[in-house]
Amino acid sequence: MIKADLHTHSTASDGILEPEQLVARAAQRGFTHLALTDHDSVEGIARAQEEAVRWGIVLIPGVEISCNAGREVHILGYGLDPYDEALLAFFRERTLEREERAARMVANLEKDGEKISLARVRELAHGVMGRPHVARALVEEGYASSVSDAFDRYLVPGRCGYVPRKEIKVARAVQLLSQAGGVAVLAHPMELRLGDMALEALVREWKTQGLAGMEVYHPSAAANHAARLLSMARRENLLITGGSDFHGEEVRNVCIGQGLDRWQSMQEDVRTLLRRIGD
Ligand code: AMP
Ligand code: FE
Ligand code: FE
Ligand code: ZN
Repeated sequence: MIKADLHTHSTASDGILEPEQLVARAAQRGFTHLALTDHDSVEGIARAQEEAVRWGIVLIPGVEISCNAGREVHILGYGLDPYDEALLAFFRERTLEREERAARMVANLEKDGEKISLARVRELAHGVMGRPHVARALVEEGYASSVSDAFDRYLVPGRCGYVPRKEIKVARAVQLLSQAGGVAVLAHPMELRLGDMALEALVREWKTQGLAGMEVYHPSAAANHAARLLSMARRENLLITGGSDFHGEEVRNVCIGQGLDRWQSMQEDVRTLLRRIGD
């Protein structure tokens, strides 16, 4: 029996658990298949892979790339080669951009009267720097009561600490992932906040660019949403995946496997994905 979670984050991006801890946690909870999908980083994969061997579970190498199409769109990649040169060069570039962005966020916050240290943000990140690390520093300094509070008050569009990331197109991410031997899957479609028609039109367009699947099961998709996404994915002949987007239990109260109890076709869907990535 397969028990899978195909969307999780470690300290290689903005998760709380080290890659080894994440794999151990999943194995202890009875998961047989886990995908590590850090933002803009494949740095945790080798470590997670080793730990997965120790526990006798399957670690699917993955990544999550934030793209833009008038709004933020996240693309998951599965089965990619974590040593692919073009992919690594792209992530190096993004890591540098994220460093500069974090520095600008810290400077803007300071102008507004919230003083946090960039060195501390870097330390909290020890991987790819993002808004969650700035949020944690704001909490440490007492400017916010929780990470969510820090986001709401300082780090969302329109607030003083918000700095957008450099935009990249879905087509570029899909192409990079495909060239690295991976398959590209649209992450948490509900977070796009589009109606069914608009979503399906976009999905069709991305499919012509190489998009291969849709994350139908995710905590953002309630049962009725998931049912609609499922019929859309079937209609468009897309791979069906599911993941909790786990970042650590203390982040938004999400645990490994959350929202996946509705995933009735998990066995066949995971097998299909594994075949597609040649496992
Ligand atoms: P970034 O890529 O640096 O813009 O940061 C985006 C990440 O921040 C997302 O992947 C989430 O993990 C996290 N995030 C976004 N909004 C919130 C929120 N309201 N509370 C906690 N974490 C959030
Ligand atoms: Fe995240
Ligand atoms: Fe995401
Ligand atoms: Zn995610």
